[in-house]
Amino acid sequence: MRFSDLGLQTQLLAILDELGYQAPTPIQQAAIPEVLAGRDVLAGAQTGTGKTAAFALPLIQRYLADEGTSKAIHVLVLTPTRELAQQVHQSFVAYSQGTGLRSVVAYGGASINPQIDALNKGCDVLVATPGRLLELATKGLIDLGTLQTLVLDEADRMLDMGFIIDIKRILRHLPEAHQTLFFSATFNDDVFALKNTLLIDPALIEVTERNTAAAKVEQRIYEVDSHKKAALVAYLIGANNWQQVLIFTRTKQAVDALAKELGKDGITASAVHGDKAQGARERALEAFKTGQVRALVATDVAARGLDIQQLQYVINYELPYNAEDYIHRIGRTGRAGLAGLAVSLVSHKEKYLLEDVEKLTGEHFIPQWVEGFEPNPAAQESAGNTRRKPSKKSLRANALGQTGNKGKAGKRRRR
Ligand code: AMP
Repeated sequence: MRFSDLGLQTQLLAILDELGYQAPTPIQQAAIPEVLAGRDVLAGAQTGTGKTAAFALPLIQRYLADEGTSKAIHVLVLTPTRELAQQVHQSFVAYSQGTGLRSVVAYGGASINPQIDALNKGCDVLVATPGRLLELATKGLIDLGTLQTLVLDEADRMLDMGFIIDIKRILRHLPEAHQTLFFSATFNDDVFALKNTLLIDPALIEVTERNTAAAKVEQRIYEVDSHKKAALVAYLIGANNWQQVLIFTRTKQAVDALAKELGKDGITASAVHGDKAQGARERALEAFKTGQVRALVATDVAARGLDIQQLQYVINYELPYNAEDYIHRIGRTGRAGLAGLAVSLVSHKEKYLLEDVEKLTGEHFIPQWVEGFEPNPAAQESAGNTRRKPSKKSLRANALGQTGNKGKAGKRRRR
């Protein structure tokens, strides 16, 4: 199938040609005609499937044809993180080059004034994180009364991060009749509940089996004691000569500690988590993308939405408390059809988390040991196998870089 078979106009076809997109991905094949027809869509699509173009291309076409540009906000895309917001915004800019369509991005953790200035210059497509969007809407700085399409991107993650209240408040600012496009990599009860309140007779699109990890990603599990994990990471990177490795930890403290530890072992690493200023996060990502550092150590939230081409290696320094995050993490590799390797380091105490991952993905992993890093059997006996998960609230606070301190740092930060 070709893009021209999907009803896209010549102008967009020329842009896609210039971008080197030769054929539509499965989600694009399924979603583009539905979005063009104005239908609500419920799409189960994981990272790297081309889902952004699947909604951006038909929306650009519709609003160029129907409304012209820069009169009012026609499209609102909500994303869980600022990184994903930037990425989606950049995609709209790339896909609409030369058309005059204006996309504006707004997210928390950055000054609101430049975002207001950008909005005042005219905005057809607004890409925003829920907190900042709500701030703009409640202060009367944007008018969503002309909105025609709402896109919820990575809806599962937005719910995980506790954005449900913000989303419900945002809905009150929208006109009753609008198209809703709902994208989620994974589906659970919360996601189903939200989609039931939002969608009318949606087109159901699922390009891969629900909750399956990205194809072409080899998944390896190494059993190792917690205190040996940093050394094992350094060993794996060094001995295999891996040049670009994304490493996930659960907490910002672990991010900093591991990046420091790797540095001591001669492996250049930068760190990304919610406590870092936006500029620092962008510099860290750029250093990683351009190969100035070999490793990027990140929390789940900070890494969400990072689009790194041709990333081959992902290491789960710790398994996530939320098994769905495992799918997102390993979706960072094996992107755009490339093979990838995802290595998870699992201590005895974390075995229950591995079981959660197995249940969700339907896979059964056979853990391996790395010579010299074999787990200590005595430690296993004393460790027990207790399930101790933190609350959603504390997970979110940690990922966002919020501490338990009283005062400013402890307050909820809008993204
Ligand atoms: P996404 O799933 O939207 O994050 O897209 C993943 C990556 O695939 C991005 O880097 C896109 O630029 C790229 N991409 C999207 N659609 C296509 C296509 N039809 N052909 C080639 N690359 C694509």
